[in-house]
Amino acid sequence: MVKETKYYDVLGVNPSCTESELKKAYRKLALKYHPDKNPDAGDKFKEISQAYEVLSNPKKRETYDQHGEDGLKGGGDTDGFSSPMDIFDMFFGGGRKQRDARTKSVYNQMRVSLEDLYNGATHTLPFNKQVICTECKGIGGKEGSVKQCDTCGGSGIHVQYRQHMLGLVQQVQSHCRKCSGTGEVIREKDRCKSCRGHKTVTLKRSLEIHVDKGMEDGQKITFMGEADQQPGKEPGDIVIILDEEQHRTFKRQGTDLRIEMEISLVEALCGFQRPITHLDERVLVISRHPGDVIKHGDEKVVLNEGMPQYKNPYEKGRLIIRFNVKFPSPGFVEISQLPLVAELLPPRKPVPPVEDDVLEVDLVDITPSMGRRVNYDDDDDDDRRGHTVQCQQQ
Ligand SMILES: [Zn+2]
Ligand SMILES: [Zn+2]
Repeated sequence: MVKETKYYDVLGVNPSCTESELKKAYRKLALKYHPDKNPDAGDKFKEISQAYEVLSNPKKRETYDQHGEDGLKGGGDTDGFSSPMDIFDMFFGGGRKQRDARTKSVYNQMRVSLEDLYNGATHTLPFNKQVICTECKGIGGKEGSVKQCDTCGGSGIHVQYRQHMLGLVQQVQSHCRKCSGTGEVIREKDRCKSCRGHKTVTLKRSLEIHVDKGMEDGQKITFMGEADQQPGKEPGDIVIILDEEQHRTFKRQGTDLRIEMEISLVEALCGFQRPITHLDERVLVISRHPGDVIKHGDEKVVLNEGMPQYKNPYEKGRLIIRFNVKFPSPGFVEISQLPLVAELLPPRKPVPPVEDDVLEVDLVDITPSMGRRVNYDDDDDDDRRGHTVQCQQQ
């Protein structure tokens, strides 16, 4: 049991979640609530980041599980949280230094089915892109028409000073209204007709995303320099992050695939054939020869029928089948015929003869209302008896 679940709740995961479930949850939420995409989400991005920072560190996670948020404040872990942007950059591999010289890189998740990852697929993603205006070559107007804004002196920032009662002076910065923070102005009549002085125009473009065989959840496909253009800056990247959908039959574990198969008792004892439709629609027939007994919970493997290896798709992992043996229901055969079944099965273990002074008890089905009383020890036993007597007396 963990002391608090706040950080787990923020990420929408269970306290028993694995590291990869944690990563998947952070990835999904960080992309959704990144201030570039969701400027109105308030502190949500920060909360997600802090929760992930703690839970992704095994030592901090252990401390949090045992002592909650207070546990993290005391002791050696007095250092505060990293900036949410740094956590984001570290996770997605962007660079802060690069960011100022380049336009913003764009991160998007794309849901892909296990079939796509097995067979490979191509998806087309339409998007709007800011492109440098070809008409004015990104100047915004005729050559020489761009003037420094005289209101802000070209800084794009409007600074105000506010005096407080105790003599403190507070500096308040805002975007310059006249130039909308660009630091430049172009006279109306000199503005480029095509981009209306904005230097860039919006075009509809589309990306062809090739999902290669064997790619996996969280893998990134990067389109270098495909993000918005802006004069004087290198364009950032568009990064597509694969989000693997859960499959109803197959469960993926690296290059292995797992399935569960229910077989009847007669199949478990006497052999069977069972078709399974694979992720590429091929039908594999699983067969077990008569006499090769399969026990409940047994796992068997089909080699080279798992997921293809990324970049080496002819090599495949294993298909692991876990068998659930379904036993027949009570009354499946006439009682008079049971000796026939018993005759065919391995003999019973010899049991010592029942003596007179032992108590023969019946087995009944467990129901939830019974609680755990089946296991009471001798002391409890006496207690309970005492209670029963009292109750009867009242
Ligand atoms: Zn200005
Ligand atoms: Zn233009």
